[in-house]
Amino acid sequence: MQFVFKTFGRGAHPPASKITAELPLVVMDAPERLSVPLSQHIGAPAVPVVQQGDEVRVGTLIADAAGFVSARVHSPVSGRVAGIVKRRTPSGGTSLHIEIDNDFNYTEDLLPPLSDPSPEEIRERVRECGIVGMGGAGFPTHVKLAPKGKTDLFLLNGAECEPYITCDCRLMTERAGEVVRGAELLAKAVGAEKAVIGVESNKREAFDALTRACADSSAAVEAVMLRTKYPQGAEKQLVFALTGRRVPPGALPADVGCVVDNVHTAYAVARAVDKGEPLFERALTVSGGETGEKGNFFVRIGTPFDYIREKTRGERSDDDLVKVISGGPMMGVAQADLTPCVAKTTSSLLFFGEKEAAEEPTQCINCGRCIRQCPMKLAPRDIERAVLAKDFARTEELYVSSCMECGVCSYVCPAKRPLVQAIRLAKKSLKEGRR
Ligand code: SF4
Ligand code: SF4
Repeated sequence: MQFVFKTFGRGAHPPASKITAELPLVVMDAPERLSVPLSQHIGAPAVPVVQQGDEVRVGTLIADAAGFVSARVHSPVSGRVAGIVKRRTPSGGTSLHIEIDNDFNYTEDLLPPLSDPSPEEIRERVRECGIVGMGGAGFPTHVKLAPKGKTDLFLLNGAECEPYITCDCRLMTERAGEVVRGAELLAKAVGAEKAVIGVESNKREAFDALTRACADSSAAVEAVMLRTKYPQGAEKQLVFALTGRRVPPGALPADVGCVVDNVHTAYAVARAVDKGEPLFERALTVSGGETGEKGNFFVRIGTPFDYIREKTRGERSDDDLVKVISGGPMMGVAQADLTPCVAKTTSSLLFFGEKEAAEEPTQCINCGRCIRQCPMKLAPRDIERAVLAKDFARTEELYVSSCMECGVCSYVCPAKRPLVQAIRLAKKSLKEGRR
């Protein structure tokens, strides 16, 4: 019997390289000093509510949200605030960070668990605990839980379609009960009739674990197998694959009755409601050919990248390190150095040598492959040309704002043109121009 898994049109099939898929999640020891970014979500940076010398515990509020589209930040360890400094973030910008000296006692400052919470109580708990989309976007979850129209489906992204990354896969396999519990709470928060968790077909163990957890749940939660294809986890593609509904350009999944979130976010929501835990740690994959001790780790937010490198370097030397990426190779951000710290959205750190790093770009040969395979039906080649000519008005005519920066065009381009970088530049210039 042949199974036909759900999917979307176009896209690509990069090598999965899920080297760490079988490696269980382990807790990484926290360092002596952590630096917690105040801008690790979409929206206004959080505002510090502590100062140098203050004592904090695990879960203490250290920075409050600066408006509705913003998120609270909590201490990942117990100890003392060492200072508030500016440093680089994994996304390439800079932000204020609260530095905390770890006393290694891990005394806690959690909220009381909620039993049988109402939709309002779930939304408020999500806001209090600073939960954001942990798949990479970092959109504050309490904002997503207040859609304008009626929502009938809550969709959970368990596709983890980016090559190399396996932390969501391990979370779904090892903590399936909490992922399903989170899905149940999220569906309740928006009044959806059902929650559906989409899992790619290369994660059979995770799918089976979720299916068992769904059977144990009294709520309407279902795990659905998706075809392994990139970018299966992108919001609009996931909505289409799971429901057949098309989200028009410029619209949101909420406009077609769906809210989408990542499985790690669902896990964080379950912990916030059932254990009173703010978001102060996350699962993260460390991989790539230049990593000696590859694996999936629970890491506290604010852990510096250079500390993670030391913990996982093994026998590898930095002399052979050509590229470090935060996130996956398709959508992630190459790092200039290892000074940034883990944010709520940091799903992986990849250490690449010569073989895995991208090749040098050559002239476009007009093959049209980038246009044929773009899941959003855009013309990346023409956008890049407009950017090179500094004609940003033309990029707008080419619907550059509809690009989800999935990286398929760059991946399929035989000339290795930096198409996504050009698109990001166009979006940034248009935004600054509007300002
Ligand atoms: S143009 Fe944007 S949406 Fe289309 S393939 Fe490239 S990155 Fe993806
Ligand atoms: S895929 Fe690359 S070489 Fe082919 S048209 Fe697009 S930019 Fe040019």
